[in-house]
Amino acid sequence: MPIYEYICLDCDKKFALLQSFYPTVNDTFCPKCSSGQVKKVISSFSCNSGDKTDSSPPPPRFGGGGGG
Ligand SMILES: [Zn+2]
Repeated sequence: MPIYEYICLDCDKKFALLQSFYPTVNDTFCPKCSSGQVKKVISSFSCNSGDKTDSSPPPPRFGGGGGG
């Protein structure tokens, strides 16, 4: 069974639960404050956000002939 992550809207407590493939949020309670106001957190590994590559080093400069 997959593990789903939840976050409590009352105390911002993040916890994970081992539930079936189609869990019901109604049956999920915060283990800290026992609140039912929880929200499922979707753990997105492959996010298509702006992928910034590291600042590549500048290309080698040619020239230097000194001819002016
Ligand atoms: Zn809570």
